[in-house]
Amino acid sequence: MSATTRTGLWCVALVLGAAIIAFPLYVNGYYLALGISILYFTILATAWAMFSGPTRYISLATVAFFGIGAYTAAVLGETWPWPAVLLAAAAIGALVAGITGLSTLRLSGIYFVIFSFGLAELIRQLVIWYEVNIHKSVGRYLFSAVTQDVLYWQLLGLAALVFLTGFLLGRSRYGLALRAIGADETAASHSGIDATRIKLAIFVVSAVFMSVTGAVMAPRWTYIDPSIAFNPMISFQVVIMALLGGAGSLFGPVLGVIPLVLLFEVLTATLPNHFSIVLGAIFVMIVMLLPRGVIGLIGPVQRKAPASDAVAAKPSTREQSGQLLRVDDVGKSFGGLRAVDQVSFEVTRGQIVGIIGPNGSGKTTLLNMLSGALVPSGGSIRFGGVMIGGVKPHRIARLGLARTFQLVRVMADLTVAENVAAAALFRSAAAGGGETTVELLDLVGLGKMQDIPAGDLTYIDQKRLELARALALSPQLVLLDEWLAGLNPSELETGIALIAKLRDRGTTIIMVEHVMDAIRALCSHCIVMNAGSVIARGAPDAVLSDPTVITAYLGEADA
Ligand code: ADP
Ligand code: MG
Repeated sequence: MSATTRTGLWCVALVLGAAIIAFPLYVNGYYLALGISILYFTILATAWAMFSGPTRYISLATVAFFGIGAYTAAVLGETWPWPAVLLAAAAIGALVAGITGLSTLRLSGIYFVIFSFGLAELIRQLVIWYEVNIHKSVGRYLFSAVTQDVLYWQLLGLAALVFLTGFLLGRSRYGLALRAIGADETAASHSGIDATRIKLAIFVVSAVFMSVTGAVMAPRWTYIDPSIAFNPMISFQVVIMALLGGAGSLFGPVLGVIPLVLLFEVLTATLPNHFSIVLGAIFVMIVMLLPRGVIGLIGPVQRKAPASDAVAAKPSTREQSGQLLRVDDVGKSFGGLRAVDQVSFEVTRGQIVGIIGPNGSGKTTLLNMLSGALVPSGGSIRFGGVMIGGVKPHRIARLGLARTFQLVRVMADLTVAENVAAAALFRSAAAGGGETTVELLDLVGLGKMQDIPAGDLTYIDQKRLELARALALSPQLVLLDEWLAGLNPSELETGIALIAKLRDRGTTIIMVEHVMDAIRALCSHCIVMNAGSVIARGAPDAVLSDPTVITAYLGEADA
């Protein structure tokens, strides 16, 4: 872009900005009201997309927070100074979002949608009950000195704030973490991301904007009752607007707000009785025709990976010898099935330990307990001196225990580089620094693929990516669950060499594997499982010629 074009663009932006700020001074009441509608829906839709865009938790609770704000203003507006009213609205909104978020952000998909809808309804019913039984009225009159001009400017300030927050969030590590959670919460947790806390924090921030918007808007109605403040239509409109514009980017929602506010304006004037039907039809059309929103038409959203040059640590310089992992009598039952039964073993630093055994013998279940995906039914797991049995996955990951998954899990719509960067976000400071995302990708042979969405990689490349992501944690121990499965002979050779290289760098490895050549080539020690129990252990050659082991495998072949 040339210097003149840039100056030109700046001039246009300045004139536009001035026109938006001065809007109330040169338009009549009708257009001012329209401007106010566009602004408040812009704030609501942008705040909604801040949480729901990356996580894909479709929330219908917008009006719950909006209504809380409006009611706070109705109750406190005449006695408290206005800034204090706004603060109170923000605080109550944050409190309600915090409490409900804690209990529900575990739900996903349709359960969350239904819950969020129920939340708005519950709060509305509570307010109605309070008004009728305690306050002895149906609604409240608001006598406010706030003019429409001032209301507009308050909304404009709030809109600027919501965009600034969204912008900063997108650049911070929480933005990338939230997208990683949305793409694959399990993989994110095992990469050290505290999914619950991050979702909760951003849900609260988004709710605060909604509540303050409600408070700012309250004086627009001179009379307010629960059916006005908690009108569920607002939640639906916000979802439709954000989805039409595109919830995946900061300025997407506003692209949906402007045309839809204008359309709703026409519809309420011309078809007041069929408004909901038309709204529903628009909703269906948007989801079918524009799954990525208007902004998706403009082209793939080029996001700068905020941390793609983030530093991942060099192999740990911590103590390189001695015991790293100790598993004692660990077991796991699923109902009546003993998937893992009283398993004990030790892993020394720098070792590669192989776990083999027929399908269903409990290998993956064992790894799941080590990485925190499953809570053991009994026994103890000590990793680097810390008891980790039953500890949350993100904490175990941050301690330096990384894993890959038997069924490969990449964060499909994040780029290759972002997948790795996401895992480096919350790496423990103790792990030190030095190796970049690019270096890790080079190590696994994905150096040229940084900017490709991970979902577009071949199966084998996704496996490589999983390994790079695991290494981004600067792990002391890496768990590989059939990482070599499905490779052709030459890929297998490269894969084996790569694992050997990791060991030489000082990374300790536990590998579950069916490829016996790899076990022989790499492992110093090997554990054989069958029906949940360890049936043999020792050097690979000795173990693989053990008659019990051969029978266990043959038994499977017969079945
Ligand atoms: P492997 O990895 O050795 O093939 P798994 O650890 O995946 O074996 O499974 C061991 C046994 O536990 C199998 O019988 C499997 O069906 C059962 N199992 C694994 N996960 C679950 C689960 N989440 N719920 C119920 N049963 C499970
Ligand atoms: Mg398995």
